[in-house]
Amino acid sequence: MALTFPSMAGSDGRTLGDEEVAAAERVIRSGMLSSVWGTEARALEREMAELYGSRHAIACSSGTAALHLAVVAAAPDPGDEIITTPLTDFGTVAPILAQNAVPVFADVDPVTGNLDPGAVEALIGPRTRAIMAVHLFGAPARTAELRALADEHGLTLIEDCAQAWLATSPGGHPVGTVGQVGCFSLQQWKHITCGDGGLVITDDDRLAHTMRLFADKGWDRAVGRHHVSFGLNYRMTELQAAVARAQLVKLPGVVEARRRTAARLLKALDGLDGVRLPDPEGHAWWLFPLVLPGGGAPELAERLAGAGIPARAGYLVEPLNRAPVWDGPVYGTSRFPLDGPPAPCPEAERLVAENLLVIDWNEHYTDEHVDAVAAGFGR
Ligand SMILES: *Cc1c(COP(=O)(O)O)cnc(C)c1O
Repeated sequence: MALTFPSMAGSDGRTLGDEEVAAAERVIRSGMLSSVWGTEARALEREMAELYGSRHAIACSSGTAALHLAVVAAAPDPGDEIITTPLTDFGTVAPILAQNAVPVFADVDPVTGNLDPGAVEALIGPRTRAIMAVHLFGAPARTAELRALADEHGLTLIEDCAQAWLATSPGGHPVGTVGQVGCFSLQQWKHITCGDGGLVITDDDRLAHTMRLFADKGWDRAVGRHHVSFGLNYRMTELQAAVARAQLVKLPGVVEARRRTAARLLKALDGLDGVRLPDPEGHAWWLFPLVLPGGGAPELAERLAGAGIPARAGYLVEPLNRAPVWDGPVYGTSRFPLDGPPAPCPEAERLVAENLLVIDWNEHYTDEHVDAVAAGFGR
């Protein structure tokens, strides 16, 4: 019988158990499902802030909402620019448009797929307000260099850590703590989940206040029913928060298990011809990415998938600078704030079309799963 790989789409590939059931029941029986008056979301924020050693954590409804709060904190004027990567989930980019700012795509490092700081620097101009770095697949982006650039030019550095729970930057800093704002997702396909949910961390009191207000309709509840600024309802529910709290306890074990099996695969594939293996330093292994500098990733992915290995080429259908969204209007019939399609990003485009292969990774993989993947590569 063929070996089944645990998947994040089912209970065999998740860590949802009695603790989460008890958490959900506790909330339902309390009668209070809203985090405005409940205790769970506030407790989750304290536990997240403690885990990351940050002054503030803010719970919200999704990773995209978390990134929207971060863009709000960066305070672009309409038409200002935010530099980001084309190799990411659209949740990184949507909040930029939602604030009427322009996403400017910088090209990526052909080895890691993470932002190339040199490419970012070349795009900084008078309208740049922020840099949004993504720690792709769980590998730490070069945030020390990006923070230096941000400081030099008076920009906000936002870290999208949706795929990089407990990943660490060189020097041992948890990713999410090098920039002014770090954003996390609790969506079904992340390291830990409550279905949908988001968290933001920051050490800045003023930014934390701004983001809290935006997530609650600009309603300063310490004052009364005053709407002091523009905002939406991005509140996390108590049900989400209670499940997320139980998941947060399990997070270190999830990342540790992924690191252990990833190390086994790295060892098995060491020296493989035509393949660049990922650098394990600080990696949180959301996926296990491989780069084929000579191309051929789609053919290899098809062969591996045919052998029952959860492998895919490219990660995206096209990098986000090539997405169809740029061909149409943004609001109504207006294309504001865009003027023309994004510039090419040749390295990102080559990775997606030819060079990048990703293997789904999971904390429930056993040595047998790893060895089956290695066998797919002839090891
Ligand atoms: C999943 C993801 C998001 C969006 O998070 P949601 O919770 O799905 O809104 C943003 N950025 C990256 C890199 C992601 O992987």
